[in-house]
Amino acid sequence: PAHKYKYPRVLLKISGEALQGQQGFGVDPAVLNLVAEEIAESHRAGLQLAVVVGGGNYFRGASAPKGMDRAQADYVGMLATVMNALLLQGALESMGVATRVQTAIEMREVAEPYIRRRAIRHLEERRVVIFGAGTGNPFFTTDTAAALRAAEMQADVFMKATKVDGVYDCDPKKFGHAKKYERLSYRQVSYDNLQVMDETAITLCKENSIPVLVFNVMERGNVLRAAQGFNVGTVVDA
Ligand code: UDP
Repeated sequence: PAHKYKYPRVLLKISGEALQGQQGFGVDPAVLNLVAEEIAESHRAGLQLAVVVGGGNYFRGASAPKGMDRAQADYVGMLATVMNALLLQGALESMGVATRVQTAIEMREVAEPYIRRRAIRHLEERRVVIFGAGTGNPFFTTDTAAALRAAEMQADVFMKATKVDGVYDCDPKKFGHAKKYERLSYRQVSYDNLQVMDETAITLCKENSIPVLVFNVMERGNVLRAAQGFNVGTVVDA
């Protein structure tokens, strides 16, 4: 039963970069499998899981060819997220997990269109819902899409799955003295310009009082521990 968790309904954001693993592009099958197993296990343990996937492993609007319209490039980025969504769905289904993909840009042949009430119903019916195509709008990020869906799904927590184990005061890969934050306030994230996620996403979480958890998704069991209330990375809240 879900009530044994501090955060029974989870919005999990997985960046495209996390899925790409050590590769320079696309999806690393081993990482995809690992992430899917983590989701499958937490789902089996009773969590309600809504997942938003990024697309940076394929394409980012910001890296559009020079002179190209930004909105045009952003649509390519959104389509990239759908590829990740379908791959994650495929991996989860091969593990026997019931899933639905909903996209913010309609493509009825491959996925359901995003319908808020229907998505909530899926969660209640114990299906993992994967959201593709971001918000469906250019000039946004999938972090913002994830914050938006978290609010719409009335998720108890926003889990930002990354390749690092939390938020640091400087890049831990470059500086040995880098210090990890256990807890941050939304304000501090904005004020100190800490690279947690973009301002729009943070604002949405703040305004809807959704705590944000940044943690390493490669470490087995983190999603479940985090849902139980253990701090497995950095918590951002009021
Ligand atoms: N994107 C967009 N609107 C959205 C979400 C995403 O235009 O609501 C585009 C944007 O171009 C972005 C790309 O999709 O660069 C891939 O998403 P993102 O960079 O957020 O993926 P991640 O960094 O999580 O892999």
